[in-house]
Amino acid sequence: MKSTPADRTDDRDDDVLAPPPIDLLPWHATACDRLSGAVAAGRLPHGLLLQGPAGVGKERFASALAAALCCSGRGARVEACGQCPECALSRAGNHPDVHWVRPLEEKKTIGVDQVRDVCEHLAMTSMRSGHRVAIVTPADRLTVQAQNALLKTLEEPAPRTVIVLVTARPSALLATLRSRCQRVEVARPVPAVAARWLAEALGRPASPRLLALAGGAPLKAVGLAPHFDELERQMIALLDALLGDRIDVTRAAADMQGEGLLARLDWLENWLGTALQRAAGVGDETALTIRAGSPLQRATSELNITAAFQVLDRLREARRLLEGSASAPLVVETVLLELRAAVRPR
Ligand SMILES: [Zn+2]
Repeated sequence: MKSTPADRTDDRDDDVLAPPPIDLLPWHATACDRLSGAVAAGRLPHGLLLQGPAGVGKERFASALAAALCCSGRGARVEACGQCPECALSRAGNHPDVHWVRPLEEKKTIGVDQVRDVCEHLAMTSMRSGHRVAIVTPADRLTVQAQNALLKTLEEPAPRTVIVLVTARPSALLATLRSRCQRVEVARPVPAVAARWLAEALGRPASPRLLALAGGAPLKAVGLAPHFDELERQMIALLDALLGDRIDVTRAAADMQGEGLLARLDWLENWLGTALQRAAGVGDETALTIRAGSPLQRATSELNITAAFQVLDRLREARRLLEGSASAPLVVETVLLELRAAVRPR
């Protein structure tokens, strides 16, 4: 299967559920506390930059925040009461004062017309009592023109309006736009909190490897869960064959193509990380189960550490290249060539 541009973007917030729930997730408390402090002091800014890695629930946080700002029954804390008529509208995903702005279907970017539309809505007087909120996600997909239009609105904001920019890549935004927004960091939960939440979400205890593969981001782990066992089995077999010289780099790269390419690259990065931790004598808890005496097991124990770090850099570069128009098989081949060199005894 050919990889489509949509598969290639791992910055996409895979953490939204529709209609968006209005409750915070357990690890959102710190960010919520900070905002509550600002609101209590009458310092809620008109622009918020909600940032954090993919899969920590940034859109969920934005949704809960919008519901709280529209809620007519909340206390000092910026958290929706869940009981009032406003909350009922928010929960159903059709509160008239909450506007979501996303890339239009089949488009990669958020255009200036979309931004002008939503800014017009924000400028209108609300029939309801709360704030008017626009949530732009992923904000790093805004065109420069669209960012400038937002900037103009933020320079002369209508009263009781908030624009929430959601992104895993804040550096992709214009510095002028960022400087108009207050940053709110949605961080990863500590592993114990993540594991507890994940087990509840999946209805069974999850492998620590799954959470590690998701980079500690619980919603990303939920998305990976259905394919995790298969991915693990496939990648172990593939690396074993490559390192045991049963298949060549071209064939291995071809086997990695398709819809799950990014997940397979994530897996490689995670495996290398685990192998490096093992070389440093730590991190056994989430170690892979690899057949003793297999080429992969030998490779893991004979890792060239300097070269392995270079492969990690190469993997990050590969993701950037894949977002552009680079040939996916060639990019993966380059990674695998270096990987093979890094795990071969010299
Ligand atoms: Zn309410």
